[in-house]
Amino acid sequence: MCGVVGIWGHPEAAKLTYLGLHALQHRGQEAAGIVSAHPDQPFTRHVGRGLVSDIFGKDALARLDGPHALGHVRYSTTGLSETVNAQPFRVKTARGELALAHNGNIVNEQEVRTDLEHRGSIFTTGSDTEVLLHLLAHSRAPRLADRIREAAAQVEGAYSLVLLTDSALVGVRDPSGYRPLWLGRVGEAYVLVSETSALSLIEGIQIREIEPGEIVTITDKGVHSERLVHDPNAPAQSCIFELVYFSRPDSFMFGQSVYEARFDMGRKLAAESPANADVVIAVPDSGIPAALGYADASGIPYKPGLIRSHYVGRTFIEPEQSIRNFGVKLKLSAVRAVLEGKRVVVVDDSIVRGTTSRKIVKILRDAGAVEVHIRISSPPSRFPCYYGINTPTQKELIAAKNSVEEVGDYITADSLSYISLEGLHQSVGDLSIGDPHFCNACFSGNYTAGAPTIRSRLAIVH
Ligand code: SF4
Repeated sequence: MCGVVGIWGHPEAAKLTYLGLHALQHRGQEAAGIVSAHPDQPFTRHVGRGLVSDIFGKDALARLDGPHALGHVRYSTTGLSETVNAQPFRVKTARGELALAHNGNIVNEQEVRTDLEHRGSIFTTGSDTEVLLHLLAHSRAPRLADRIREAAAQVEGAYSLVLLTDSALVGVRDPSGYRPLWLGRVGEAYVLVSETSALSLIEGIQIREIEPGEIVTITDKGVHSERLVHDPNAPAQSCIFELVYFSRPDSFMFGQSVYEARFDMGRKLAAESPANADVVIAVPDSGIPAALGYADASGIPYKPGLIRSHYVGRTFIEPEQSIRNFGVKLKLSAVRAVLEGKRVVVVDDSIVRGTTSRKIVKILRDAGAVEVHIRISSPPSRFPCYYGINTPTQKELIAAKNSVEEVGDYITADSLSYISLEGLHQSVGDLSIGDPHFCNACFSGNYTAGAPTIRSRLAIVH
């Protein structure tokens, strides 16, 4: 998971990009970068490790001048967490400079990389995004859109891309549309963003989502759309976990409000798995809309029983084990006034290793809860994601090798229930579970864009 922002035709393009990246910070906290472009001048690039607010000072932003800009926030799915892997990447090609920012994951990266190396390519990073750059550079097609098409024909997996040249800003979504990408406007300028929350921050207006398998080219003449592949009827496989957890609830995505989708997941969960309880609480922040939905459908009042400190990163997204281990205590504290003597329903979006949930149950009991019933607004996570989400390997996923009852015992809950896969699909308006329009591979193991070979899997760094 990463976030991208591209701006075409605004006198303060880099500053707007910087603000947009702030609104996408939840999509990646390892590194960030901006490339800015001025007609007939070399691109300017500034990248670094850490949070957007730490990387871009006044001087850096002043250097990033020009009416066009491209930005990226990163966490790693392939490639180590090093500055060299920070995006956007920038290269000089025979046709001029090119910058590229990528959200997703190429599952056949190792095979394509090896093939390119045999053809003379020299790689400087461990990132799958660099593979895309080399494929673009190798193509002899005259138009950038055609070079993108040629590159896309050689890769499998998930990619929402934004590319910047001195004459165009280009947005691409893979044919299955795993990751989001939006087209918007700020005044006369065009904007491409991962989530509409970034558009809201810069007071932009939404035009539309880029369609799965679409290439959108923005130039001074306007917006031109064409197909990446000539199969407009291929079913989308948008990431359902974006709606469960990753995206911000104030974003609009895959044709719906993220908040409303999560609220409905909570309502479904209450109908499928009721509990005799006095209070509904959420694991903040991502569990809040589903907890409100659970409370609404069950009639049990919602109260803020857990408080999150916003001054530390999210545990799931932080790849370093050392931080994750003590992260729960840093991040969550219990409100005794809400919990003491109460039977508590706790709504969370997912259970990954189970260690966090176990610690949360302990925190709640220590604060006086007499019963703790855990309700999860996604089905058991049994399979890793190969399409751009940094989930653990399968052997680390507690639900991969344990029954729901065993997971409940491990986390020491009085009861544990997950929403059904059918209930989840219904919550996002996807009623055809036999032919779903959302990817659910981390729950079902149905990898519609293929899984990496052993060689590529070994290269995925978690
Ligand atoms: S496997 Fe899960 S997290 Fe990955 S794209 Fe599919 S639904 Fe999203």
